[in-house]
Amino acid sequence: MLDIQKNIQDVISQIKPMTKYLCGKCTPCRIGTKRMVEILESFLYEQPTREKVEQLIDLAKDIKQSSKCKLGRVAPNLVFDLIKNNFDENFDVDDEDDDLVNTIRFEIDKTKCVGCSLCARNCPVKAISGELKKPFIINQDKCVACGLCKKNCKFNAVQVKEES
Ligand code: SF4
Ligand code: SF4
Ligand code: SF4
Repeated sequence: MLDIQKNIQDVISQIKPMTKYLCGKCTPCRIGTKRMVEILESFLYEQPTREKVEQLIDLAKDIKQSSKCKLGRVAPNLVFDLIKNNFDENFDVDDEDDDLVNTIRFEIDKTKCVGCSLCARNCPVKAISGELKKPFIINQDKCVACGLCKKNCKFNAVQVKEES
């Protein structure tokens, strides 16, 4: 149970900072993502029941199916992976492909980046690469616009651009 709790805590710490970047256009994403965090937090101090896990899965599916951008799908995907990899029971998680485009674009300003790697270590989809002490870059094909790189950069090197 301790390993599961650590993994649940890891997922919570990935999802929570993302919630401030959710624009709110899709109600399930705006409200449901925070509700998923609440359910996950309840798993830290009480044994997850099958009913509660299924409630979490239903919520994640609802959010994923109604999300208008990739960002809204990050939290449901993290929840599906958590359940698939940590719960013995055969839960019905959603594996549909992500075919959406980002509504905002994150880019690293080469003139400000000091190559500390903090953003790369915290990117949930491993979209950032580079060598220490040199400017890092974001692979836009992988990026899901979660905003964690911007949050973690202490040098204000990550810029946000609206996609037209
Ligand atoms: S899915 Fe995307 S567009 Fe919809 S509320 Fe979430 S962040 Fe906004
Ligand atoms: S956290 Fe900021 S300074 Fe560090 S590698 Fe990333 S963009 Fe560059
Ligand atoms: S590059 Fe930044 S915005 Fe894109 S997925 Fe990684 S942490 Fe999120």
